[in-house]
Parts: sequence; structure tokens; C-alpha cells
Amino acid sequence: MDVVPRIKLNTGQDIPQLGFGVYQIPAKGTVSAVQTALDMGYRHIDTAEMYQNEKEVGVAIRESQVGRADVFITSKLNNGYHKPSEARLAFDDTLLALDTSYIDLFLIHWPLPTLYGGDYVATWKVMEEFHQDGRARSVGVSNFQIDHLEKLQTESELVPAANQIELHPYFQNRKLAEYNRKHQIVTEAWSPIAQGAVLDDPVIEAIALEVDKTPAQVVLRWHIQHGYVVFPKSVTPARIEENFDIFDFDLSKDQMELIDGLDQGEAGRTGPNPDTFAYLPR
Ligand code: NAD
Repeated sequence: MDVVPRIKLNTGQDIPQLGFGVYQIPAKGTVSAVQTALDMGYRHIDTAEMYQNEKEVGVAIRESQVGRADVFITSKLNNGYHKPSEARLAFDDTLLALDTSYIDLFLIHWPLPTLYGGDYVATWKVMEEFHQDGRARSVGVSNFQIDHLEKLQTESELVPAANQIELHPYFQNRKLAEYNRKHQIVTEAWSPIAQGAVLDDPVIEAIALEVDKTPAQVVLRWHIQHGYVVFPKSVTPARIEENFDIFDFDLSKDQMELIDGLDQGEAGRTGPNPDTFAYLPR
């Protein structure tokens, strides 16, 4: 039985609220990590062209007992290919690498407002093509700030199905998450446990003792109860299992509020600021 709740995207498609992230998993270790996750019940994998492990994600799914239709796959456009003609080729390559005729969700990985003349709208219009031709069931964005989303709203037709952003107890990114919610854009929280940095927080440790769960489980549960989609990363089978085991308990309103109180605003951000991030991999 599928224990993972599903959230409806604005395209009508369902996304499992818990998935498995493969950022920083070397290609060599990706097949076995994804197979472990699938064996444990994960049915949603989050990869990206820039992670250089799409091919191994595809192999793991193909070699598993789980059918393609039962796995929700997300990938993301490489920062180096925002020009429309290159984005089209890059998307063909993503489908080829994953060995699939369609992807469930394809995202613009970063807005890169200081590159490409700041024209992420032209890139978004190509994403619309992928959705219209059916090869991307849903399309969305990642690391888009409110002003980037407003520009898409004014200058294009399709509302992104999801916005994947840094979000965890120390960086709750509330205004952006609220903007997403108001516009029927699902918030996906990347680095949901801040790559481990929130796990020894005394407030989280105390709640973990109260509910007889681990700090990672408490933080992931907090995301789920807020309605966010999460895909923690690990290559350790015991942790992959631990991160999946979060559907047999609830955090109380008080416990949720205590974790809400850990927000450090901008100081809690661990990754790059999307307004200035301008990394090109080639
Ligand atoms: P995360 O918050 O998932 O933390 C991962 C790290 O936490 C692991 O390397 C491991 O050391 C530790 N960990 C995992 N489970 C644990 C447990 N149960 N107990 C103790 N430690 C544990 O960080 P992440 O990998 O940065 O983010 C998750 C996923 O989000 C990525 O794999 C990727 O798919 C996505 N992501 C997207 C972007 C983006 O720009 N769109 C950026 C970063 C990450």
C-alpha cells in the first residue's frame, strides 16, 4: 500500500509528497542508491541534468520491479542551455539519458537573472512547448523568486506547476512559499534537513524525544504537515529507510509552532542566492 500522500499539481497530475533526491550522489553510486529507495517504497526521484546521474536513475528504474508509470521523475534544465534552441536539445538529451518517452516534471533549475540578458521568459516558453507536446506531463521552475514568478505571470500563459526552493527550519522562505500557495504553485523544499545542519538543534532534539522519532524524521514530518514536497538525499540504506518512515505519527500544533520559531530569515540560507547565482557548468 502506498503510504505517501499525494499532492495535486495545477496540471491535474499527482505528485508523491516524499521522494528521493540524488544531488551529489556520484554516477557510480546512483544505481544502487535509487534501487534501495525504490525497494523501500519511494516512488518519486528528483534528479537534474547538472547532477550528471540521469542515466543511472534511468537504469535503476528500468532494472527495478517498479514500472515506469509508477515512478514520478523530476529533472531540471542545465544552466548552460537556457537559449531556446539549446534548451530543446537539452530536453531531448534528458529523455534519452533517462530512457523514457516522457518526464513527469521538468524544471528550469535556476533563473540566472544576470545571464542570458535576464530572459528566463524565453526559456519558460520553451518549457511550455515540452508540456504541450506531452513529453513533460508538468513543467515548473526552481529557485525562482517572487519577482521572477511575477514576470512569468505577466509575460507568459502557463503557471509553473511547482517551484523548488531552499526551505528548512532555519530558512523557511515564507513569503515565497506563500506566493507559491496563492498562485497554485506547489512548493518543493530542497535541502529539507539543511544537509544535516538542523538535526542537532535542541528544539528539534527535544521534540524527537517526545514523539520517539529521530530529528530527521521530525523535520521531514514538519515539511509534510506544512504541505511541502520533500526529497531528502542519502546513500546510507538505514537513513533512506529512516527518512521514509514518517507517516505513522503527527506533530502537534505546539510542536509545529516551535519548529516554525527556528526561522533565521536570510541568515539561515545555506545555498546560493538565486538573484545573483550565475554558475555555468561549461
Ligand atoms: P538534504 O537536506 O536532503 O541533506 C542531505 C544530507 O543529509 C546527506 O548527504 C546526509 O549527509 C544527511 N542525511 C540524510 N538523511 C539523514 C538522516 N536520516 N540522518 C542524518 N543525516 C542524514 O540536502 P540536499 O541533498 O541538498 O537536498 C535534497 C535534494 O534536494 C537533493 O538531492 C536534490 O534532489 C534537491 N536539491 C535541489 C536544488 C535545486 O537547486 N533545485 C539544490 C539542492 C538540492
